Amino acid sequence: MAVDMSTRLDRVLGAKTAKAMAEQLSLHTVRDLLRHYPRKYARRGEMTKLEDLQVGDRVTVLAQVRKVSTRKMRNRPGTLTEVTVGDGANSMQLVFFNRRHADLREGAWGLFAGTVGEWRNSKQFAHPDCHLMTGDDDEDWARALIPLYPASKDVSSWVIQRSVKLLLNHTGDLAGLVEDPLPEEIRARHGLSGLPAALLDIHRPTSMEDVERAAHRLKWDEALTLQLTLAARRRAAALEPGIARPRRAGGLLDAVDAALPFALTEGQHEVGEELAAELSREQPMHRLLQGEVGSGKTVVALRAMAQVVDAGGQAALLAPTEVLAAQHARSIRALLGPLGRAGELDGALEGTRVVLLTGSQKSAVRREARAAVADGSAGIVVGTHALLQEGVDFADLGLVVVDEQHRFGVEQRDALRAKGNRPPHVLVMTATPIPRTVAMTVYGDLETSTLRQLPSGRGGVASSVVPAREKPGWVDRAWERMREEIAAGRQAYVVCPRIGEDAGAEEEPDDDDGAPAEEAAASDRRPPLAVLDVAEALRDGPLAGLRLEVLHGRMTPEDKEARMRAFAAGDVDVLVATTVVEVGVDVPNATVMVVMDADRFGVSQLHQLRGRVARGKHQGLCLLVSEASTASATGQRLAAVASTSDGFELARLDLETRREGDVLGAAQSGRRSTIRMLSLLEDEELIAEARAEATALLATERGLADHPGLAMEVAALATDERAEYLEKA
Ligand code: ADP
Ligand code: MG
Repeated sequence: MAVDMSTRLDRVLGAKTAKAMAEQLSLHTVRDLLRHYPRKYARRGEMTKLEDLQVGDRVTVLAQVRKVSTRKMRNRPGTLTEVTVGDGANSMQLVFFNRRHADLREGAWGLFAGTVGEWRNSKQFAHPDCHLMTGDDDEDWARALIPLYPASKDVSSWVIQRSVKLLLNHTGDLAGLVEDPLPEEIRARHGLSGLPAALLDIHRPTSMEDVERAAHRLKWDEALTLQLTLAARRRAAALEPGIARPRRAGGLLDAVDAALPFALTEGQHEVGEELAAELSREQPMHRLLQGEVGSGKTVVALRAMAQVVDAGGQAALLAPTEVLAAQHARSIRALLGPLGRAGELDGALEGTRVVLLTGSQKSAVRREARAAVADGSAGIVVGTHALLQEGVDFADLGLVVVDEQHRFGVEQRDALRAKGNRPPHVLVMTATPIPRTVAMTVYGDLETSTLRQLPSGRGGVASSVVPAREKPGWVDRAWERMREEIAAGRQAYVVCPRIGEDAGAEEEPDDDDGAPAEEAAASDRRPPLAVLDVAEALRDGPLAGLRLEVLHGRMTPEDKEARMRAFAAGDVDVLVATTVVEVGVDVPNATVMVVMDADRFGVSQLHQLRGRVARGKHQGLCLLVSEASTASATGQRLAAVASTSDGFELARLDLETRREGDVLGAAQSGRRSTIRMLSLLEDEELIAEARAEATALLATERGLADHPGLAMEVAALATDERAEYLEKA
């Protein structure tokens, strides 16, 4: 039978196996199976000691049966079989109840897979799945490395191993079967092996060098396909003409520059020039502006918006929360003065209107705002998700700015973009620093600019961890420090993970970087501290006598706005809040932040939070209170946050604590997808090289016309769910 990559597995494997593979692992074709790579390899002499494993660990060990003994159980009917397996120095005990594996003979080699359990305070490996070597796979067992595959309930690693072998036997070697999509020049330029060789080596390696060489090549396939997709998207966007919004002297932008109470930093100036130049082109800008918390992105955005207004267009600023939208509108109005009140009594004729549009506005207010957006009198429109709704029509939308991009999906960016008559320019901003690899993949369809420098004269933030269990005295000291700062005229935040009273109600769900899953799973812990409880305890205790208020997502928008305004005006000393203060809130006089149950927050989130107290000329202080032990992984994660204020380093740490899949999308183990091997942490160089190759390939007249293999891979990615993940990033 002629077999090729698209042959369905039920034609080469048994019907039952093929069905289980299709249903449980989404493996349908020969290509799918060959692209289902081993997760790792077992080798003799490397068995992990049971003592070194944790209860709950899922492990597969390669070992030889040393001893088998069966006896009747004492307290209940039935038998207990104890099997000692080992490989050289190490050994481990397996336990089976009422079951004897006929093949469990002394001297036999096998793979044992299962979950480490606990019984009477000692670890045990109870009824693991066994796959023992039999005559017909002698040859497999003689190999130095045994591949271990991502498996499922009915498709074990060894079933996959045997199926791959069957396929290889069927086809001799893979050269006739597999066509290499990578162009010869690219392979030569980067020293990559051919695809048939790489597939053989990944499934049946004789050494780890084989595996590494193969993996490098297979990662290239993934990186190049991904980068081709993104490059194609960038090109398509570039071909859709927008409207040029060139700079005009004597308009709003000049007025903004004259009104700024500070000089721009060098970075703000440079990025400003970059944006100004791109806005002057017909080709719509697609730019990501990343900059540390407090690096002054808003001003950069405002200047771009002013340029667009000067050119006759409108600019929309999309913010993730009402608090932030209101704050932006307020500070833009303050900065523009009479220039932002065109049409009002004291407004300047040459100015424009700044309108705010949020979901909670009274309908009359909203109607008026919408009218100003529709007739074009509002040059600058600031809002929340309400901006995206139907019925919000712009006269001439020229620029879309998305603040705190990590809170939005690409759909939202696109929904706003679609409100332009022609594609508007787009600027997305984020304070969550994005490691280069993520910028090149998840955000790969955007060009990036970075503000690295903070405006001068900032005090910076000192952070430390307060281990509440180990050093309870430090917690008291934290409140004392807060009182001292407040006595010196400053203000403070206390942040808690939960609102309180009504259990379930969490703050706005944090989609992008909650605490790692291991901890979320530990449901036996006490519930996280709540704003309402903590506020009460502080009022009656260590912060008695201070002006203390709460802020959280369950308050009405008017109340939130009023509280924020009171805090900004200095009428409140301490704001006890949820992560509503995480993004963008700007009160320079606030210098202390105490984060309760800090271990419940993700790394990037803590970094964001502490950015709230680094905004003025005074030194900020951030205290991360946690009951986690300082020696635990959680404790060390907090220590890492405290020890550096380099957002890029923290983003990297964040990437390490999350899995690749969480970044590229929700990877489900065993699900088929195009990105299997590539690591955003380790493959920076490779991704950069692939990006360059992809850009070069598409820049030629014929594009992928001469590379049908590559075109096919790209098409496959497009239909893959993964493409959807990219959209949602
Ligand atoms: P972020 O980048 O976190 O959004 P903001 O734009 O909110 O930061 O700016 C933080 C604070 O720094 C604001 O109070 C802003 O007015 C101020 N700021 C911005 N640029 C400068 C500058 N060049 N010099 C001094 N202060 C600045
Ligand atoms: Mg901001």
